[in-house]
Amino acid sequence: MRVSLFWRPVLICLALVVAILLAVEWFSPDTLQKISPAVAIFLLVAGAAFFLSSRTVTLRIRRLKEFAARAGAGDFSAIERDHHQDELADLSAALGRAVNGLGQTIRTLTDERNRSSAILGSMVEGVAVVAADERILFCNGAFEQILELPSGSSQGRTLVEALRQADLIALVRQTLSAVEEQTGEVEVGTVRRRNFSVTAAPVRAAGANGAVMVLHDITELRRLERVRRDFVANVSHEFKTPLTAIQGFGETLLSGALDDKANRERFVEIICEHARRLARLTDDLLKLARIEAGRLELEIRSIRVEALVNSCIETARLNAKARGLEIFVDLQENVPAVRGDGAQLGEVLQNLLDNAVQYTPSGGKIEVKARSNGQEVVFTVSDTGIGIPESDLERIFERFYRVDAARSREAGGTGLGLAIARHIVEAHGGRVWVESAIGQGSRFHFSIPCAS
Ligand code: ADP
Repeated sequence: MRVSLFWRPVLICLALVVAILLAVEWFSPDTLQKISPAVAIFLLVAGAAFFLSSRTVTLRIRRLKEFAARAGAGDFSAIERDHHQDELADLSAALGRAVNGLGQTIRTLTDERNRSSAILGSMVEGVAVVAADERILFCNGAFEQILELPSGSSQGRTLVEALRQADLIALVRQTLSAVEEQTGEVEVGTVRRRNFSVTAAPVRAAGANGAVMVLHDITELRRLERVRRDFVANVSHEFKTPLTAIQGFGETLLSGALDDKANRERFVEIICEHARRLARLTDDLLKLARIEAGRLELEIRSIRVEALVNSCIETARLNAKARGLEIFVDLQENVPAVRGDGAQLGEVLQNLLDNAVQYTPSGGKIEVKARSNGQEVVFTVSDTGIGIPESDLERIFERFYRVDAARSREAGGTGLGLAIARHIVEAHGGRVWVESAIGQGSRFHFSIPCAS
């Protein structure tokens, strides 16, 4: 039977009063005297019942209080079921439901927050949220890495305190006072400059202004743009010199030099030499275009390393001898055969040997080595030549990139040899790299997978 908490003590008191009144009404004084022990026992039992009832209520309230404190501390486990049937049991059930709902909402929010921070944390783009007072409220790891900030140091600091890029700060300031997103570009890094596009969008949440900025790496894009621009300029430049020479000497011959017995042959020779240069350039450019368009057809077969090296070394030895250089060959014993196109690999090795001869002063040494780790054979062409500055090493395999353009041209170089070599090696599934020190020489390496 459901008895209200309010009525419980009242009922007990009423029962007592009624019992006493009935006793006074029905019984004579004598009888009353006789039954007074019974009345006393009755009162005692009633008092005990009253005490027990209020103690149970106190315990249940204490349990509720503890449950509320637990929930407040973040423990949303279910409340113990109250089997009574009164308002306190209703309150306990309602509180349990509320805390359970709250727990679920908090769990959902926590999951969402974890997911968001996992996504932001794994992004390669730098993301930061800035408050209206220019304080960085949040930023991901990529943001700090890009701007070379110590990890975890930026949150809570103002833009001026955390960043050194004045243009980035200006862009965010502009965004904070604007309604539309702002875009820009920043260059960061001291040794290795990198370009980032910046998009900053204003955010209005709960009346407060702020901005979200995203930094996106466009270094490669800018590099490719520069390479393309340079390429066009380089091709024009490379063609211009021989064409001007051919045109000039041709016109000289036509305007009377054909009769100049002493010089006409020399003039024709110069024309031929420049024409050959143009032909070499065109060949190299066509080859490069074919390779870059993925149209290089390789006749893959098993190639003996010794045969490959010998096929190139003869020509190189002739050139080297003429320049007072010595060439050594050092092949690992039983070096395994490689998988590749003999003609193309020969071209790579020949180019490296020609360069070594070209860029090594008389009296120097050149060495061709081949070593294998069972997976691939690494070919090394080292020289004791002029070396390559460290700042140029990264770009040496780019088209037309030359440390000393005049020297290269003079020697008949097109500046495309290493670019072609890199493409050929990569088409074989190998790598090409260089180590060099100014005045000490260079070591060009390329690896080709073993035949089996
Ligand atoms: P090039 O036709 O000019 O030789 P490459 O692409 O073969 O063109 O080489 C590009 C540049 O790399 C050269 O112009 C030269 O500056 C540098 N280089 C290549 N090999 C060597 C070397 N062994 N020693 C010094 N510099 C080198």
